[in-house]
Amino acid sequence: MQAIQILQTGGPEVLTLRDVPTPTPASGEALIRIEASGVNFIDTYFREGRYPAALPLTLGQEAAGTVVAVGADVTSVKVGDRVAWCGIAGTYAEFAVAPAARLVPIPDGVSAEQAAAAILQGMTAHYLSHSTYKIQSGDEVLIHAGAGGTGLLLTQMAKSLGARVFTTVSTEEKAVLSREAGADEVIFYTKTDFAAEVKRLTGGRGLPVVYDSVGKSTFEQSLTCLRLRGLMVLFGGASGAVPPFDLIRLSTMGSLYVTRPTLKDYIATREDLLARATGVLNGVADGSLKLRLEHTYPLAEAAQAHRDLEGRKTTGKLLLIP
Ligand code: NDP
Repeated sequence: MQAIQILQTGGPEVLTLRDVPTPTPASGEALIRIEASGVNFIDTYFREGRYPAALPLTLGQEAAGTVVAVGADVTSVKVGDRVAWCGIAGTYAEFAVAPAARLVPIPDGVSAEQAAAAILQGMTAHYLSHSTYKIQSGDEVLIHAGAGGTGLLLTQMAKSLGARVFTTVSTEEKAVLSREAGADEVIFYTKTDFAAEVKRLTGGRGLPVVYDSVGKSTFEQSLTCLRLRGLMVLFGGASGAVPPFDLIRLSTMGSLYVTRPTLKDYIATREDLLARATGVLNGVADGSLKLRLEHTYPLAEAAQAHRDLEGRKTTGKLLLIP
């Protein structure tokens, strides 16, 4: 089968299309023919070596497709089932194996492309808005990169929970999309001081929570947007990693909280995984959660997908089609 692997870490040019053996499902695993694989920012962290991994590595950790074989002791899925999954390396490929316990059924009315587009970023938006900080009606929240794949979904969920939503974006086109997703106030953080703007828009109140996936270039200012005892949710570093931080500053800035959550810890049990996946995929099925499938690329063009994502050229979701 064909797969996109890295033999060394580096820029998008290290992504290599290779012929590799089709994997065989071990006990408890299923083999899935992939119909669409999601491209996520985390894939760029593995590619560049920010997150270490053994090489060669088949990139990608989000996909949807059809089960074509199962290993011993698998009863939860069977050949022919349509499934989606995330958090397991190896999806930039024609086939992948995954533990059957990590697969979720794709509901009728949801295509494989939609499932691959929704499962990772959708469950991320779900845990951030329902668990890391449980948004209450009337909360004022800030979501950075509001027109990104995760940002558009998080904005919709925050609105459905009754929040007043502030987002940041870099271009006018992205501002339009962010507003369409429900943002009440969109701030151009590349042109204006977003923290000053948040203070102005809240009459100096400050926010109970900031969702920051941009990291290095926004972290410090994000802290100043919070009210006393507010929560900083740092969930990514699209602009780079946040440098070491002196914890005493949380005290002097208003007894603030900081968390650095990751999806796998919010879907660690089968029960949590199914509850979040069902919430997201049913929302796609009934139209209450809108997906923006920005662009699909042939598998061989994975490097271009990474260039576009890192170059801030994209909105919504990018997919690779084997
Ligand atoms: P996005 O589609 O949101 O793309 C990233 C966006 O970040 C860009 O479009 C851009 O929007 C913004 N950005 C700001 N500064 C930069 C920069 N210097 N270089 C590149 N982009 C920049 O990607 P994803 O939805 O895939 O991921 C969003 C973030 O969420 C990532 O940081 C990712 O790691 C994180 N994430 C974390 C998870 C977790 O569980 N912790 C799970 C899933 C995602 P603009 O042009 O408007 O500034």
